Amino acid sequence: DTLAELDAAVTECRACPRLVAWREKVAVTKRAAYLDDEYWAKPVPGFGPADAALAVVGLAPSAHGGNRTGRMFTGDPSGDFLFRVLHELGLASQPTSTGKHDGLTLRGTRLVSPVRCAPPENKPTPAERDTCRHWLADELRLLRPTLKAVVVLGSFGWQALLPVLADAGWPVPSPRPAFGHGTVVELGDLQLHCCYHVSPRNVRTGRVTHAMVCDVFASAARAGGL
Ligand code: SF4
Repeated sequence: DTLAELDAAVTECRACPRLVAWREKVAVTKRAAYLDDEYWAKPVPGFGPADAALAVVGLAPSAHGGNRTGRMFTGDPSGDFLFRVLHELGLASQPTSTGKHDGLTLRGTRLVSPVRCAPPENKPTPAERDTCRHWLADELRLLRPTLKAVVVLGSFGWQALLPVLADAGWPVPSPRPAFGHGTVVELGDLQLHCCYHVSPRNVRTGRVTHAMVCDVFASAARAGGL
């Protein structure tokens, strides 16, 4: 299989009934600001080149962000924050990502998530998380020849990612390493960089700042040779 085939296959997935119902319901009810938009309303595939050296891992798409635009991290405040950072570091061709047809390209960087469908309250159940993890495990296996570093956004993403990495063949230690902003964990040939999530709440409260996120991404990009 190629990454393009995997991307096509994941968008057809209907394995989690609650998430299928939710992603399709919000596409009908919509948010007032997006009444004219046709929502994607399907699983959101990874975004970025198939020979990426750096992967950025969130948790799941948001109802009116990725679930609307069909592109990972696109169309919500977290994404707006993230793409500005990627552009400043030369990893994104534009500082904004508005939708599939905006011409944005990423350099050596692929955006992925352990859960591909928008969950209610942004919270997948443990069962949904486990049902989805084979998609990311397959994606990381395909990226493995070039992948050198990962930035993990938030502790939920971290908890979800470690079992996926173990499934994909990386040596995840037991007990599992703890999440902390700026923590770097070496898993054999892969460097994991922890970063607080760039959620509006974390930004508003000052828990995470632009400079803090740039620091983590810059060191992960260096580890990736980017
Ligand atoms: Fe399929 Fe994952 Fe979406 Fe569940 S969350 S329906 S496993 S793509």
